[in-house]
Parts: sequence; structure tokens; C-alpha cells
Amino acid sequence: MALLVLDNFIGGKFVPCSSYIDSYNPSTGDVYCRVPDSGKEEVEAAVKAAKAAFPIWSSKSPLERSRILNKLADLIEHDLEEFAQAESKDQGKTITFARTVDIPRAVYNFRFFASSILHHRTECTEMASVGCMHYTSRAPVGVAGLISPWNLPLYLLTWKIAPAIACGNTVVAKPSEMTSVTAWMMCKLLEKAGVPHGVVNVVFGTGTKAGEALVCHPDVPLISFTGSTLTAQRIMEKSAPHCKRLSLELGGKNPAVIFDDADLTQCIPTTVRSSFANQGEICLCTSRIFVQRGIYSEFLRRFVAEAKKWKVGNPSDPTVDVGALISKEHLEKVRNYVKKAQAEGARVLCGEGVDSLALPTGNQKGYFMLPTVIAEAKDESCCMQEEIFGPVTCVVAFDTEEEVIERANSVKYGLAATVWSSNVGRVHRVAQRLQSGLVWTNCWLVRDLNMPFGGMKASGIGREGAKDSYEFFTEVKTITVKH
Ligand code: NAD
Repeated sequence: MALLVLDNFIGGKFVPCSSYIDSYNPSTGDVYCRVPDSGKEEVEAAVKAAKAAFPIWSSKSPLERSRILNKLADLIEHDLEEFAQAESKDQGKTITFARTVDIPRAVYNFRFFASSILHHRTECTEMASVGCMHYTSRAPVGVAGLISPWNLPLYLLTWKIAPAIACGNTVVAKPSEMTSVTAWMMCKLLEKAGVPHGVVNVVFGTGTKAGEALVCHPDVPLISFTGSTLTAQRIMEKSAPHCKRLSLELGGKNPAVIFDDADLTQCIPTTVRSSFANQGEICLCTSRIFVQRGIYSEFLRRFVAEAKKWKVGNPSDPTVDVGALISKEHLEKVRNYVKKAQAEGARVLCGEGVDSLALPTGNQKGYFMLPTVIAEAKDESCCMQEEIFGPVTCVVAFDTEEEVIERANSVKYGLAATVWSSNVGRVHRVAQRLQSGLVWTNCWLVRDLNMPFGGMKASGIGREGAKDSYEFFTEVKTITVKH
């Protein structure tokens, strides 16, 4: 089969690039497609197209923009199976996850913002004593730079494109160089959906070339970024001379806190899912599990038994639970964490180095790893402090509520936590004291897009969601009228 070659999408047209890079299918280790290796020149052309489209797009009514977003959602939904197949091959995720999570959520992102944009209200106050009325007025900002990671490719990119264009901005998006295919497929649908040329431009390529050119471009006043904390630091540095508006959704080291009165029949399968879903490559995945000492042994036994049931293999097989990790380098990095844990005195109870991995013939060169459970790692060890971003989770025991709150908070990150207990008072108390932008109690990954989403500490700056994204992608002005 001929190799897929992607082109940049600028001003409503696919435009070839002067050089290309290889992108791999993680489940086979073969080259899956060739991606433009864009740089300053391509970003310049995309920003120019986005600037030219801004006056017309920003002057459309929210209702007109809403209709176009809904049409785009319908078109992606119509091609859901093709998108899911491509996402699975491009990222290594299971076809089931792509079909039930990634692509449906990308569709929903457009539908959600198509609706929410119709319901915002501005504020008004009166100062009768001086005969003045104050009100706020909001307007789109301009060209938005959107940079997304590889783990949930279309899901996270559309979570940025949808609110940005719903609010009347035009965009230049840069997906991860490792997972560009579904963004390219979406570009093919834009004209049919009625998105005017230049409103959505997509430039493919690496972070250091294409991403940085976008971050440094003087005509891009805002950057919405999802990715690692390290890259975010670089983006803050590079964008500082331009005083850009930044939204940063970053890494996590998410704790699950399990008290001895937790309902283990709910807690264990959910915590296995929160640890290993999408190969553990979700920023919200659990990677430190604190279990109250009275139920520690029982939990560990049942948790390991459940983790061992997760089938690793060809991602296009609908019975497979764990696909391939994104790259050879990433697989090596994740494996090294397990080795470091052992060297630091922890015990590996199942998975990497303990159980054997049998792969189908076509997947022998893929980047696979078994769900791995580590016990008794020290709180200060690498495995308990650093984001691993793979199918590895650590289980440790605790005694008191006070103690576990302090230990759960003792990392630089603060993205997502889960608390398991049937004591309603304790659930509220602990949730409020955990340093985490999101706390799920007795559940995981239940999201209402109206609610703020984002991390504390090194996990991010800013929030996304109906109100928060609207505020980020619009500029507010306070007008005072004396009557
Ligand atoms: P990454 O930071 O390496 O890359 C993210 C994006 O930034 C990619 O498109 C990349 O090309 C680009 N990039 C890299 N260097 C850049 C630079 N100097 N300037 C501009 N752009 C640059 O992250 P990743 O490995 O793709 O994704 C994994 C990380 O993303 C994990 O840390 C994970 O926790 C985080 N993540 C966070 C969330 C969240 O909502 N908080 C969601 C998903 C993933």
C-alpha cells in the first residue's frame, strides 16, 4: 500500500512542504505516514491566512458559527469508523478506545461548544449614587495558536479548536508530529461543513521547529497548549517577550486514596482502568495508589489479579485492552522506571520483567508492555515523584487521613486525584484538602464539560471548560456609561 503523505492545511488548501518526517505505527514499528517538517515559513503562511480570515469570521453571529460547528460534528461522526481506525494505527491505542472515547469525544467537543456559545451573558452593575452603569463586552482575540500532544490526538485538538472558533477566533493548530493523521482527515471536512478558508489552518511538524515558530510569532496573541510541563516552561520563556495569553494543561502524578470502608467491588476495576486505560497514557491516569493498611493485602491481591486480566496485543483486535506505547523511546523510558523502582528496593508484582508478553506475529516489532504493578516504593523515589505516562502504577499503604493527605500532596504536580470511601464527610474533607485541580470520589473520568478542567502546581495554568474556555478565547472590556 502506498505510504500516506500528509500536507499542511493553509487558507483552505492542502499545501505541500519542502521536507517531511516519518511517523510510525507503534503497534508494528513500521512507518505509517510522512508528515510535513514545517518551520517558520509554513507557520508564517498559516498565520497570514488566519489573520486574513479573522474579520469575516469574527463578525459572524454566534448562531452562524454554531451551525457550522454542528455540521462539522456531524461529518466527523459520519466517518467515525475511518477516524477511529486511523487514530488506532497512528497512536497505538486500541480500536475500542478510539471508537468509544477519542472520536466520539471529538464530535462532542464541536457539539458542546456549538451549543454553549449561544448561552453566555455579559455582566452589568449600576452605581445609582453617581448615575453610572458598568457593563462588560467580550470579543474574540485574534489568531489562536493551538498545540496538542499525542495521547488523545483528535480529542484534545478539537477541545481547543471548537471553543476557539466558536468564540470567533481563527486558528493555527499544530498537532503532535507523532499523531497527525486524524487532524489532517478533519481538514478534509472543513469546507463541506462551511468553515470559511483560513479559519482553521493546520501546520504539521515538530515542536522545536513548527511549535516554537508558532509560539514566537508576533501576530499570535494567545497560545493554548496541552503537553508536558517541561515544554510548557519553554513556551512560557519563548512567549514572554510578547506577553502572550497562555493556557497550559500539563502533566500529572495522580493519587488514588483508598480508605478501608471503600466499596472494593467498584474501586478495584475502576482503579485498574484509571491506571491502565490507553496504556496509562492519559494525563489523568492514576499512578500512585494509597491504600489504608487494614485492607492493603486484600486490595493488592485483588488489584494484581484484575490487572493481569488486561489483554495486551494487536490494537485493532476489539478484545484487546492495552495497545502499544507511542514510541520505542517512550517504551524504553517507561521500562527504565520499573528497573529504577527495583533498584530502589520496590517489588514488581506483575507485568514488566515478571510476566511474559506474547504478541501476535505482525506485532513483534511493536512497542508493547504489560500492565505493571509496583509495591512498597518509597514516597521520594522516582516512580512516586515523576510522571511515567505508561502502564505502571505504584501501590503503598497508609494509616491515617492526615498522613495520606500530606503524602498525596507531596509531589510537584496537582492534576487529578480519586478518593474512595463510603464516609460522606471524609470524602468531602479529603477532596477539599488534596492539591489537585480535579478530584473524583468513588468514580473516575466522569466529566461534565461545563465544569472547570485543569491542574494546580506544575500541572498547569488556567482552566478549560464552557465558561473558562470562553473567557480564555475572548477579550473582556468594561464599559462605564454615565447617565
Ligand atoms: P510534549 O510537551 O512533548 O509535546 C506536546 C506538543 O508540544 C507537541 O505537539 C509537540 O510537538 C509540541 N512541542 C514540543 N516542544 C515544543 C516547543 N519547544 N515549542 C512549542 N511546541 C512544542 O508532550 P507529549 O509527549 O506530546 O504529551 C505527553 C504530555 O502531555 C504528558 O506530560 C501528559 O501528562 C500531558 N498531557 C496533559 C493533559 C492535560 O490536559 N493536562 C492532557 C494530555 C496530555
